[in-house]
Amino acid sequence: MEENMKNKVDFCLSCPKPRCETGCPTGNHIRDFIKALKEDNLEAAAKTLYSVNPFPEITSRVCDCNRQCQGHCIRGLRGAPVEIQLIERYISDHIPFTPKVGKNNGRSVALIGAGIANAAAAFELIENGYSVTFFEKEDSFGGAIYTGIPGYRFDKAYLDKIFEKLVAAGAQFRFEVEVGKDITLAEISKQFDRVIVSIGAAVEGRGGLSANEGYSAGLTLLHDLNVDGNKQKYQNYKHAIVWGGGNVAMDVARSLIRIIPDVTIVYRRSLKEMPANADEIEDVIKEGVKVDYLNNIVELRLDENGKVTGAHCVKMELGEMDASGRASCHEIAGSDYEVDADLIVAAIGQKVNLAAVDGKLAKGEAGHLSSIPNVYLSGDAFLGPKTVAAAIHDGKDAAKEVMASF
Ligand SMILES: Cc1cc2nc3c(=O)[nH]c(=O)nc-3n(C[C@H](O)[C@H](O)[C@H](O)COP(=O)(O)OP(=O)(O)OC[C@H]3O[C@@H](n4cnc5c(N)ncnc54)[C@H](O)[C@@H]3O)c2cc1C
Ligand code: SF4
Repeated sequence: MEENMKNKVDFCLSCPKPRCETGCPTGNHIRDFIKALKEDNLEAAAKTLYSVNPFPEITSRVCDCNRQCQGHCIRGLRGAPVEIQLIERYISDHIPFTPKVGKNNGRSVALIGAGIANAAAAFELIENGYSVTFFEKEDSFGGAIYTGIPGYRFDKAYLDKIFEKLVAAGAQFRFEVEVGKDITLAEISKQFDRVIVSIGAAVEGRGGLSANEGYSAGLTLLHDLNVDGNKQKYQNYKHAIVWGGGNVAMDVARSLIRIIPDVTIVYRRSLKEMPANADEIEDVIKEGVKVDYLNNIVELRLDENGKVTGAHCVKMELGEMDASGRASCHEIAGSDYEVDADLIVAAIGQKVNLAAVDGKLAKGEAGHLSSIPNVYLSGDAFLGPKTVAAAIHDGKDAAKEVMASF
């Protein structure tokens, strides 16, 4: 191991009660894989890591480690935390995850949605002898990481490698098949023993606003740029406002500042409450995007053709804590003002729409089993919009429930 990495590993205290692990949504055995590295046992470190997370090449690049594992590390109380993300990346760069294929047990599972939750479920099922078939409406593997996260932030070649591993392990893929439109859930249920629906949370909030031109939603814009390569659609705009403070808002703003000269984020709370990854917020500012904290859009300003010319905004103030544990925010009476913009992009939250798959599909009473027999839910579709790490953990959990149901 290189000296630099050895120093990072030796900095870990191997705590009896590792706080870092309480911050990891995958429940990773962080202390133990670092301990194995201390003992110069890279193979044991990889085995420990992969027992929980088969995708460290992704999590070590997109997780918000400053809030998750590293944000909880005891070393961080008095200075810098252990650089867990870099250690995880080191392991996966040196010994990539190789799935084992279990002896075929004759049971089949359909996986609706080829995002990271179902990818995690697939490896779990394949290792235990189940055959899996993905149904995916897009033309490629990766879910929101493929369609949403821009290539400058995460190299999609990692998704290609995971896809190749899944295919090599026997997974079947049916791309460009939208369940609920091109095929019904009932038809799939007849062909497979069990179904896991992990369709993400992709119904975009638009704040009840609309325009004929110049108003878009974040995921639509990211799909246009990342999947369709349609930069032309946006490059004639001059002044964009991105409305929101999560990862989608940051990815939209950073994508736009690469195409047009003036981009401002309007966020209704303060920096402290911003849900986006801390690194993303830093980068967005470094790259020249302006951020108007404690401001909100209340209405679009349109010309006679319904084209966006700006927004009516209002100043906000923070109040008491709300149910999410964040400070609530309120409009300041009489603080209305107008801003000019020719493009406004809403990135103000997403919802799950299970009815798009089947009108009767809903959450069940317990666990991942849905309202329909033999049909399970997982990932963002089960949890609501969360994180890559949470989706991995949940996909594995759903697969375990499926296996226990036989
Ligand atoms: C722009 C953006 C940036 C993000 N940044 C981060 C980040 O930095 N760090 C982080 O941890 N998390 C981030 N997230 C969140 C993270 O990507 C998600 O929580 C995670 O990908 C959820 O995985 P999933 O498999 O549950 O769903 P998804 O990844 O959404 O996959 C669902 C899949 O189902 C498919 N599908 C939907 N409906 C159908 C249908 N009817 N038939 C067939 N297929 C269907 C979709 O096309 C998609 O491929 C980000 C999300 C977005 C959108
Ligand atoms: S909390 Fe920090 S020091 Fe303790 S085991 Fe985890 S990484 Fe190591």
